[in-house]
Amino acid sequence: MNTTAQMPTDPCDECGQMKPAFGFTLLTSEGGGPGRKLCSECCNREYMHRAGLPELETVDFEPLTRRDCVGKEHTFHFVVHMSTGLGIKAFEMVDGVPGGYRFFVLEPPQTAVRVAYDKLVKKIEAALAVRYLRSSDFPGSGAGQNRLYMKGTAVNGRIDEGDDGTPVVVVDGRQYSWEEFGQFLTPYNGFNFRLECFDTCDNPDITSEPARPNLVWWLQLPEPERDDEDHRHH
Ligand SMILES: [Zn+2]
Repeated sequence: MNTTAQMPTDPCDECGQMKPAFGFTLLTSEGGGPGRKLCSECCNREYMHRAGLPELETVDFEPLTRRDCVGKEHTFHFVVHMSTGLGIKAFEMVDGVPGGYRFFVLEPPQTAVRVAYDKLVKKIEAALAVRYLRSSDFPGSGAGQNRLYMKGTAVNGRIDEGDDGTPVVVVDGRQYSWEEFGQFLTPYNGFNFRLECFDTCDNPDITSEPARPNLVWWLQLPEPERDDEDHRHH
């Protein structure tokens, strides 16, 4: 897995500049002619112009590297994209294409790009601080015997598609088949679960061990307090 490869670039049909690929928007022509491929900067300018909004601050964010909670480095690339609001996408490159962790913030259109970016970086840092899978690490056994398991009672991840179109999940920034994912859940055989999907701009709870009510609370009631003083005077 090569995560340090140079980001491929493409020329923009509007400004002619070479820009990082994956930030382009394909605009279909109204007259039925060939579509135009616009870099995010040109695309955003056109969007803001059409929407009657002031020109967007132009920011080509440099790639950002952060360590996750086990010390592994992750480098994120950014694309600013106006759609229903001011959106900024952050993604890692895996084997030359976007993969691994992906993050997205969607803010009101008039939001300053820097403010949205700061929110996105906070979201990245919060997510990298949590891991949902742990190695079984059986002492004395070979590494081959170690398997991954769910660390707590909750897992966040992304539903995705593999190169060959098969459904996959991405957890802790790594891609797994649903088969593998099913293996990670075996400590909870017999348990119930709830699968809930979130838009990438949503902010679901990210803890791996969400607080749950104590279902056998009566086992932990404090001993009834005996007030001997009280009894003597009544
Ligand atoms: Zn351009």
